[in-house]
Amino acid sequence: MNSNLTVKKNQLIDQLKAQGITDEKVLNIISEIPREDFIAGYLRQQAYENAALPIESGQTISQPFVVAYMTQELQIDDKCKVLEIGTGSGYQSVVLSKLCKRLFTIERHMPLYKVAEEIFKKYRLFNITTLFGNGMKGWKEQQPFDRIMVTAAGAEIPDELLYQLKDGGIMIMPVGSQEEAQHIVRVTRHGDDFTVKTLLPVKFVPLLSGIVHSS
Ligand code: SAH
Repeated sequence: MNSNLTVKKNQLIDQLKAQGITDEKVLNIISEIPREDFIAGYLRQQAYENAALPIESGQTISQPFVVAYMTQELQIDDKCKVLEIGTGSGYQSVVLSKLCKRLFTIERHMPLYKVAEEIFKKYRLFNITTLFGNGMKGWKEQQPFDRIMVTAAGAEIPDELLYQLKDGGIMIMPVGSQEEAQHIVRVTRHGDDFTVKTLLPVKFVPLLSGIVHSS
C-alpha cells in the first residue's frame, strides 16, 4: 500500500472511533483488510474515504462506518454461523468471516459473485461459502443461523429470513424504500416472537428478487 493510503487508513480508523465504533476487534479487522482490493481502477485512491463507492453491476461497496456499525451491532463471536445477503464487493463478507466460525453469503449479480469468490480464494478464507441466488429466501439447506446480515434495503423484513434465525439469534438489515428514509433495524428472535429495534438512518441499494446473469 502506498504511504498516502496508509495515512488515510489511520485517519479513517480515528473517524470510526469518533463516530462511536468501540469494538476493538472490528476496528482491528478494518485496519487489516486492504479495502482498495475490493474497488476497481482509479477509485482505489478513495478506498479510505468514509464513503460508499460504486462497484460493478450498478451496486456499491458500503461506507466503512456502516460496515463497522452493522458488524458491531450484530454481536458476533467465533462460534457463530452467519448468513449475509448481498455479497457485493465481498468486503463486508471478509470482515464477518474474520469474526465468525462460518459465513454463508448470497449474491444475485453473477459478475459480482464471481469476483468475490476469487477474492475469498486469494485470501484463503475457507470459512466462506458463496451462493449465486436470491437471498430474500435465505438458505434453507444451511439454516438455522446465529446471525443474519442483509446489506441491501428492503421495504420490509422477509419472513423467510426471520424463521431461518436460531432462537436468540440476531439479524441486522436496512429497511425502507429508495425514495424515502431507510433505517438499520436489529431483530432478535425469542421463540416465535421477534423484537425489532430501529437504529441508524442509512442509504442502501435495493434488495431485489430474481437473479442477474450479466452486468
Ligand atoms: N456488502 C456489500 C454491499 C453491496 S451492495 C459490500 O460492501 O460490497 C448490496 C448487494 O446486495 C448488491 O451486490 C446487490 O446485487 C445485492 N442484492 C440485492 N438484492 C439481493 C438479493 N435478493 N439476494 C442477494 N443479493 C442481493
